Amino acid sequence: MSPVSRSTKLSSPALPSFDDASAQVAACAAKVARIRPGIERVRLNQALGRVLAEPLRADADQPPFARSTRDGFACRAAEISAHRPLPVVGSTRAGQSPSGSLPRGSAWEIMTGAPVPFGTDAVVMLEHIEELGSLSARAILLEPSRNILKGENIVARGAQARKGDRLLPAGTQITAAQIALAASCGSTKLDVFLKPRVAILSTGNELVSIRSSPGPSQIRNSSSAMLAAMVSAAGGDPWILPIARDTAQSLDAALARAAAADLLLITGGVSAGKFDLVEPALIRAGARFHFTGVRIQPGKPLVFGEMPSRSIKAGPKLRRTKCCIFGLPGNPVSSAVTFLLFATPVVAALAGRRELDPRFALARLAEEAKTKAGLTRFLPAACTFAGPIPEVVLVPWQGSGDLAAMARANCFLVVPEDADRLCAGSTVRILLP
Ligand code: AMP
Ligand code: MG
Repeated sequence: MSPVSRSTKLSSPALPSFDDASAQVAACAAKVARIRPGIERVRLNQALGRVLAEPLRADADQPPFARSTRDGFACRAAEISAHRPLPVVGSTRAGQSPSGSLPRGSAWEIMTGAPVPFGTDAVVMLEHIEELGSLSARAILLEPSRNILKGENIVARGAQARKGDRLLPAGTQITAAQIALAASCGSTKLDVFLKPRVAILSTGNELVSIRSSPGPSQIRNSSSAMLAAMVSAAGGDPWILPIARDTAQSLDAALARAAAADLLLITGGVSAGKFDLVEPALIRAGARFHFTGVRIQPGKPLVFGEMPSRSIKAGPKLRRTKCCIFGLPGNPVSSAVTFLLFATPVVAALAGRRELDPRFALARLAEEAKTKAGLTRFLPAACTFAGPIPEVVLVPWQGSGDLAAMARANCFLVVPEDADRLCAGSTVRILLP
């Protein structure tokens, strides 16, 4: 880990490849993940996106009784499949107590979600029988073309989970389905990890706050809002700092404040231009760099390192002495891509998540994509999921400042470093947000 001279900074051969840079970030994320974050208890309705600190265990067998999944008739598969009428000897609706044993050679009317009588091994759907007899002497006959198998339309007690089973491991970032699962176990509150504090510092003399009307040569700071959303989605607590100017003094003051964070995201000021002053400021703040550029596009000037942290939390295990830093290139598409590829794993590790990797998927390329070899590229693309396999196409764009194009995209097409074109119809990788 050593500072790289600014003159060689963006000469491609000196830079790590995408895979090398990813491996370095993954190694740091793995170290970060060894420190267990603090814990707080939240109500279930506040748990979405939080990270479980303790496994979720089943408080009872699931389902708690052998349950019908259909409206129909509980019976024995062999008896109903003999295509002889079976008298209907009782009825149970959802919420009613289990009804004892089913006498041999009979059927029992049952509703979805109701406990089936003991001795039953199948439920035949209402739609698949003919009703015979009168209201006082009901009987059913299976449709001639059908055959019922043992177990059909019944979920056995404990088939989904046994009491005490681990349903979700610690480190799970909680989704709506998992909230339902916790609710089914009677968990009104969950223990979750404290969110890591992620400072977001946008730099640039041209930037104004989103509340301002930009002057003729100014633009609004759109990246801080975007990164805050991305940090939240990854499980972190975004902390947007005031915009820093392209001066040593402004950057030094901002970095001194930001050192209280668990992770610092800086945007802009990391290219090779005269007023790209972020790296020298980081060095003055005591930073060491893992790399100061990657063979990717967009995002080539990405900086990754660590600086001494001021964040000291309660508890002996929670002391963090270093704050990871990413210097993200200023263009919004570059910031978004480099965040997804490299910062997400670190936020995830700080948040205590088990899954640390960026999310890639395979899709079929609908139209040829032409680029230049030499960098791994991540190009804004639109993927549709309507057909049998996902199909992706590039979104036309005006370069990495083109926020409108990125907002029309829903993924990034990955073009390997050695490729100068990808053929229509080929299977390609996409990076998912
Ligand atoms: P830089 O990396 O500082 O050279 O910035 C590259 C480009 O990104 C410039 O056109 C900047 O104006 C733009 N940019 C930098 N930071 C932001 C930001 N926070 N929001 C929107 N655009 C930005
Ligand atoms: Mg700048």
